[in-house]
Order: sequence, then structure tokens, then C-alpha cells
Amino acid sequence: MNLLVVPVASLLRSPGNSTTVRVDTVFDPAGDYAASAPGAAEVVPLADVEVDLVLTSYLGGIDAHGTLSVPWRAACRRCAGDVTGTLEIKVHEQFRPGAGPDDDDAYPLVNEEVDLADLVRDAVVLELPLAPLCAADCAGLCATCGADRNVTACDCRPETDPRWARLDALRVPDQA
Ligand SMILES: [Zn+2]
Ligand SMILES: [Zn+2]
Repeated sequence: MNLLVVPVASLLRSPGNSTTVRVDTVFDPAGDYAASAPGAAEVVPLADVEVDLVLTSYLGGIDAHGTLSVPWRAACRRCAGDVTGTLEIKVHEQFRPGAGPDDDDAYPLVNEEVDLADLVRDAVVLELPLAPLCAADCAGLCATCGADRNVTACDCRPETDPRWARLDALRVPDQA
């Protein structure tokens, strides 16, 4: 049974009424929730994603608003170490009979059921961090020997070509 498919027949018959949907769901790591690009975060496989929404009926559809709590993980873009976090995503969307898959302003409401899976996936894909850092001041890896500069200092000196020395003096330190 798919807990993200919520029957709303009785709700639709009494516009203005609300119901709360709290579902812990687990996403298939091989599915749509894997990292969307190299270096992008992914939803932690098999971790609970908490869906906490209020569904309110109005004349013509269902309004869904609430919060998604999504554990994610990634490799730090400077040192490749583990980075983890939990996204708290606020969502507010509509479901309407007759809405098509390409509708921007509403999800389809079919057979008096709302399927929250697309809403959750769209919100998660938008919010997963791109190229996160393990810490704002992560020192990264040495470009010469590969040592993790957060853990150890190495003896490598950046090789300086005298022709570039004047440019080096102008170079702004990496602030990202
Ligand atoms: Zn790092
Ligand atoms: Zn080194």
C-alpha cells in the first residue's frame, strides 16, 4: 500500500475542511531521489523522509501545505569527505481534477485521490544542495600530494612559474 496516495473523497464533499497527513516514507535509492548531478547531494538511501502536510479542500480542488523533512548526504566539494544534513522544506501546492502532468500550478487529482509522490520529489530535487562543503572553512586536498589539509599539513610548496608570479600577486583568495 502506497501511503503517499491519500483518498480525499469525503474531504471534497465538505469544502473548507482539513485533514492532516503524516507519513514516514523511504525512497528507493535507485529511483528518482539519487543525486541529480555529479557532486550534488542525494537523499540518504533507506532513511525516513517525513511528510507532514495539511490537506484542505476548496471548491475545485485540494490545497496541500506543510513540511518535508529529508535527510541528505554528499561528498564535500573540496576534500571529498562526508557531508550530511536534513532539509526542512516548506511546501504549498494545489491538486485539481483535470490538471495535466505539465501544469505548473496544480498537480492532478484523479479518482478522488491525491498522490503526494510527485510533490515530494519535485520539492526535494529543487532543494538538495549543490556542491556542499563539509565546513565553510574546509581546507581541501593538497593539489600536489593529495593530503587532506584539514587533517595534516604537508610540505608541498605550490610550484611557481616566475612568468605567473605577477598574476599570482593579483589573484584573489578563494572565498567560496
Ligand atoms: Zn571538506
Ligand atoms: Zn601536499
